[in-house]
Amino acid sequence: MKKLLISILLTALFLTGCSVSKPVEAEIFAMDTLMDVKVWGGQEDLTLVTYEIHRLESIFSAADSGSVLSQVNLSGKRELSGDLLSITRDAMALSEKTDGAFDPTVYPLVRLWGFPDDEYHVPTPEELEHTLALIGTEHIHLEENMLSMDSGTMLDFGAIAKGYTSQQCVNLLKTSGVDAALLSLGGNVQTLGIKPDGSDWAVGIAAPDSPMQPIAVFTFKGSKALVTSGGYQRFFEFDGQTYHHILDPKTGFPAENELASVTIICDNGEIADAYSTALFVMGFDKACEFWKSQADFDAVFVLKDRSIYATEGCAEMLSDCEFTVIKR
Ligand code: AMP
Ligand code: MG
Repeated sequence: MKKLLISILLTALFLTGCSVSKPVEAEIFAMDTLMDVKVWGGQEDLTLVTYEIHRLESIFSAADSGSVLSQVNLSGKRELSGDLLSITRDAMALSEKTDGAFDPTVYPLVRLWGFPDDEYHVPTPEELEHTLALIGTEHIHLEENMLSMDSGTMLDFGAIAKGYTSQQCVNLLKTSGVDAALLSLGGNVQTLGIKPDGSDWAVGIAAPDSPMQPIAVFTFKGSKALVTSGGYQRFFEFDGQTYHHILDPKTGFPAENELASVTIICDNGEIADAYSTALFVMGFDKACEFWKSQADFDAVFVLKDRSIYATEGCAEMLSDCEFTVIKR
């Protein structure tokens, strides 16, 4: 009897040990980037996440002519529901909050520069002037759930779709009882819970001049979203000049300032994603002022000269680099 009890106990320990140390894992190509998902749960939880990522991709991808967003952009008018209504409302609010640095109507500009199909083009001043007239949330009208856009205005959720998606996946996993997960959707990382072996989550910030290398590492426990925006992530060269994919909606040009990248750390993936883009557009000084005016996030700024600045709320999590702390 005693032997049987010990054997049952050992089997139980072994099984727990297995599920504790080994996540189920998948690599997914979606939203134009490689994603890595680790779930400390069952295969069905991983399937749930994979399905959700592809489902949201088929709604949000502006460049995919089969997506729901493409149809909206084509018709300029549509009754919205579900995720498309949520992300549109969130995007409008985040645009207002960031004084238009994050702007979901940049798609005509993104297309003019040729980013969706890699057919790059440096616009003429006339083209820019014509296209800038279509940009701005004043050109989108959302009454209840009825969206209408001024002629030529188009939506692009490229700067928040991955963050919205990682947040949705974490919410779904929580609901299905999963305690720990690590989602890495391109430059967007989101963690759920405490790592089952008790160790810290470790998330690197890419070195802008050598993105496969980390320039700094975040270590922490618990649920967080970490999102990086940087000009190095997508760009082209023409006539000795580099042009990247994060556009300043006021000038129509790629945002050029002292920043090489911005990483946002906060509790919500969608907010982290919108803010990383917005603060990159704002530039260092304005971004610091914005951080001081808000209580819901922290940030790490990597400047083009490789110096690193971290807001005080996340300084303790940052290692493997020298940095200056920004205080309120
Ligand atoms: P992210 O990598 O999250 O910073 O998002 C960059 C993507 O968002 C670009 O590839 C564009 O599709 C879109 N985008 C570019 N500039 C802006 C902007 N100022 N506001 C909102 N979306 C933008
Ligand atoms: Mg973003």
